[in-house]
Amino acid sequence: MTARGATALGEIILAQIDADGPMTLADYMALCLMHPKHGYYATRDPLGTAGDFTTAPEISQMFGELIGLSLAQAWLDQAAPAPFALAELGPGRGTLMADILRATRGVPGFHAAAQVHLVETSPTLRSVQAKTLEGYAPKWHTGVEALPDIPLLLAANEFFDALPIRQARRDGPAWRELMVSRDGPRLIPALSAPTLLPMLGHRLGDTADGDIVEFCDAGTRIAAHVGTQIARNGGAALIVDYGDWRSLGDTFQAMRAHAAADPYVGPGAADLTAHVDFEALALAVAPAQHTHLTAQGVFLERLGIAQRAQKLADALGGEARSAHVAAHRRLTHPAEMGTLFKVMGLYPKGAAPPPGLTG
Ligand code: SAH
Repeated sequence: MTARGATALGEIILAQIDADGPMTLADYMALCLMHPKHGYYATRDPLGTAGDFTTAPEISQMFGELIGLSLAQAWLDQAAPAPFALAELGPGRGTLMADILRATRGVPGFHAAAQVHLVETSPTLRSVQAKTLEGYAPKWHTGVEALPDIPLLLAANEFFDALPIRQARRDGPAWRELMVSRDGPRLIPALSAPTLLPMLGHRLGDTADGDIVEFCDAGTRIAAHVGTQIARNGGAALIVDYGDWRSLGDTFQAMRAHAAADPYVGPGAADLTAHVDFEALALAVAPAQHTHLTAQGVFLERLGIAQRAQKLADALGGEARSAHVAAHRRLTHPAEMGTLFKVMGLYPKGAAPPPGLTG
């Protein structure tokens, strides 16, 4: 997108602040990321080395292969229901789903029973996904509510971090919420007057004055829907993202060209994200069960990434081999993505947790 596009969204946001007053961070993020004409995801393919950030499936095929094997084993463990929805939330370029499908070709009956469903709002990325997944007849949806009412095997990598969050700072029994306001032509962060926020009632016990807490209504709603569906129809979900068990502190950030950027400058031109509060998702998914939150590196090692990496390395030489070794390290090493990224699985009561995770 050009600077002119970003300015156009800036003008829209300024006008909305003039009309309605300062907006919540969630409203600001939703406009920056999803505005149909000027939003970050609506206007580009942000992934890969030429884009603003990269993701695990783009780093190595091993990531999607192991996710695929975990989901296929969960399907076998639940007596191989047919048909079932093989779904992904926020599929990016379609790489993860393509790797899942390739890795599960040899699982008898899996492909015949699978209907591929993609939840994606960006028209630009939908067309990339259509090319990557040619031949699999995927169906696209704008929300999880449209997924069919059948057993569900679902993957979501770096999806929940892209959903709009609100952020509040503790002030006695109340909270001052981070709002987006204006100072002349500039967008600026500003704190609201102290207000009671009933949805943060459970955080009054473990926070002190000045502590910052983030919450994501959209993520909670989506997790609740997926949990209900898995509890009712069977299946499993693997949610992979950066974050931790309980939100504490400011994790709102903007990324542009692989570097940190000012989230209030050039709205629509940078990727805006926040760490995922897995506890909030876990609380929302009942009556489905959730696994322990597990570091990505541990999850991939349990699924045999070392052996898979060795097998692929045997067929490679020179630069391709070093790139492959670096990719393996990047996915699993604690100093890279191995610890920051976490995996949480969802499964029905009475079923086994998806392989790689513990109940
Ligand atoms: N999972 C991919 C892409 C991650 S980027 C990967 O690992 O490479 C985030 C993805 O979520 C993009 O495809 C983006 O368009 C999509 N997305 C963001 N917010 C969304 C929303 N509210 N509903 C549906 N898709 C969304």
